[in-house]
Amino acid sequence: MSDTGDYKLRCPVCGRNPEDHYTNSCIEGCSGLIYADYYAKKLTIRDFPGIFKYHDWLPVSGWTETSACPVTYKSDGLADHLGLANLYVAFNGYWPEKGAFIRTCSFKELEAVPTMLRISERLENGILQISSAGNTGRAFAQISAETGVPVIISVPEKSAGSIWTTKECDSVFLVTIDGDYSDAISLGNELCSIEGVISEGGAKNPARRDGMGTVMLDGTVTIGRMPDWYFQAVGSGTGGIAAWEMGKRLIADGRFGKRLPRLFLSQNKPFTPMVNAWKDGRREIVPEKDMPGGKEAAMEVYAGVLTNRNPPYSVTGGLFDALSETNGIMTGIESNEAIEAGRIFTELEGIDLDPAAGVCVASLIKAAESGVVKKDETILLNITGGGYRRAAEDLEMIPVRPSAALPGSGDIEMLKEQVKEWMKKYA
Ligand SMILES: *Cc1c(COP(=O)(O)O)cnc(C)c1O
Ligand SMILES: [Zn+2]
Repeated sequence: MSDTGDYKLRCPVCGRNPEDHYTNSCIEGCSGLIYADYYAKKLTIRDFPGIFKYHDWLPVSGWTETSACPVTYKSDGLADHLGLANLYVAFNGYWPEKGAFIRTCSFKELEAVPTMLRISERLENGILQISSAGNTGRAFAQISAETGVPVIISVPEKSAGSIWTTKECDSVFLVTIDGDYSDAISLGNELCSIEGVISEGGAKNPARRDGMGTVMLDGTVTIGRMPDWYFQAVGSGTGGIAAWEMGKRLIADGRFGKRLPRLFLSQNKPFTPMVNAWKDGRREIVPEKDMPGGKEAAMEVYAGVLTNRNPPYSVTGGLFDALSETNGIMTGIESNEAIEAGRIFTELEGIDLDPAAGVCVASLIKAAESGVVKKDETILLNITGGGYRRAAEDLEMIPVRPSAALPGSGDIEMLKEQVKEWMKKYA
C-alpha cells in the first residue's frame, strides 16, 4: 500500500522506503526517525476541515471532521512590551474570538487527529496505546470521543485529573500509575506486549511530527515567509524536530525563503536534560550530568509536560540534528519566571496559558532583553497550549474515569487480563 498514498516513508539512516502499515521504525532496525517523503513539493492549501488544510504534508490519504488547527496572528501587546516589530503568535488552544477551537487546549490535538486517522487507514485491526503526562492523553481521549475509535491511555496518577473530554466518552481505557511520566511510558510499553495493542509511537510516528509541524506551516503561510526564529518549550523535543522538518520542505517549495528558522527551545528548571547536553555540544544525554535530580526533579517542575527522561535527542533525525542544522539555542527557565511570563502574556494578549507555554514566553522575554533576538527579526512564538479558562466558560469538561490504577488494584498481569477483556468489545 506504500505507493497508494501521497507519500513514501523513508529511513534517514539507510534510505529504504518501508511500506506503511502504521510503520514507525525501519525494518532494518536502523536508529533513526522515519519520515514521510511527500510527492507534493509545493504546498497547496486545501479546503478541508482544521489541520487537513495542510493535507499535502500529512501522512494520511483521507481526512476527518475536526476543528483543530493552529491560529497565527501578529502580536501587538507583547510585541510592544518587548519592542519586537515582527512577533507572531501561533496559538494552539481554545480562543473562539481568534478562531482557535482546540477544545482540549494544547497542540497535542494536532498530533492526535492525523495519528488516529493514519492507524485506521493503515491497519485492519489494532488499538492505539498512548503514554502521557496529561495533555497527549486528553487530546487522544477527545478524538476518541469524537470518532468512537478506542484508545488505551496510561498516565501518572497525579495527571489523572487532566484527562477530560468535551463530549461523553466511553471508548477509552485509562490506567494510572504511581510515578512520573517516564513510569507511565514504561507501563504503556508493557501493555503493548498484548496482541493487538499498538504503540502510538511518540516522536517516531511521522503523523505526530507532521501534525505538530502544521504550526510552522500555519506561521509561514500567515507571515508570507519562514520566520527567522521558532520558539517553543520542549519535553521530548518532537515539536522542534517537526518545525525543522517542515522548514526543509518549505525551502524545497521555493516560495518561503532559503534559510531554516533557528530553533529557540526551552525547558523548565531543574529538569533540563536537553539544555545541558546541547550546551555541552554533546549528542548523548548523560543522566548523572544532565538529569542530576532524576525523577524527583521531574516531579517538581511547574510545567510537568516538559519532563521526558528519554527524549528523541540523540537519534538520527532527532533533536540534536535539528538544533545542529538550524544553529539552535536551548535555555532553562525557572518556574517562577514561567509563572510571571504567563501572567504578562495573559495581561497583554488576553488569554490564559498552559504552564509550558509560560516557559516559552519567559524564554522569549529573556532573549529579547538580552539582545539574542534582534528587534526587527521575525519570530514565531509557539503557544503550545492555552485557553483553559476560556474553554471552561463554553464547554463541558467531562472527566475520563480510570479503569485501573497501579499499583493497587493488582499487578501488571492482572491489568493485562483486564485490558484484553475490554478489547473484546472492539474485536
Ligand atoms: C507536549 C507539550 C509540549 C512539549 O512538546 P514536545 O515538542 O513534544 O517536547 C509543550 N507544551 C505543551 C502545552 C505540551 O502539551
Ligand atoms: Zn533504515
